[in-house]
Amino acid sequence: MTAPRPQVVPETTALTSPYWTQAADGRVLLQRCPRCGLVWHPPAPVCPGCRDGAPQWLESAGLGTLYSYTRVDHAVHAAVADVVPYLVALVDLDEGPRIITNLVGVPDEAALGVRTRVILERGLAAGGLQLPIARPHHPGTDGAAGPVPRA
Ligand SMILES: [Zn+2]
Repeated sequence: MTAPRPQVVPETTALTSPYWTQAADGRVLLQRCPRCGLVWHPPAPVCPGCRDGAPQWLESAGLGTLYSYTRVDHAVHAAVADVVPYLVALVDLDEGPRIITNLVGVPDEAALGVRTRVILERGLAAGGLQLPIARPHHPGTDGAAGPVPRA
């Protein structure tokens, strides 16, 4: 009998709880400063631009542009031993923040600058948490549903 595959469990704190709660419903939340308008991710207790201490939550449309990516061939954790290779990407969301995400559904040579849609899916995370996954965005035809092909 083999042991169950270990899973990644992102830390949920009072600061990140709104993000994970909304992520469970498929919504990507960002933070926005009511004073200077800066939008950022991951969550922080104060605005990284002006240090205002009352950030607001903003739902992202999930659309962005592929800034960079890398292919991971070596399993750096037992939780990903059976999913390598996979792509880790930096996506510039239209709202402003650059986020780290998995990238799926792309040809072998992903093109930098390609439009992407970030959705949340259950996968490597335990405890019902959903993680961001970016796919190429094809307006009008890329609903968030569908299987997640391996990178
Ligand atoms: Zn600010």
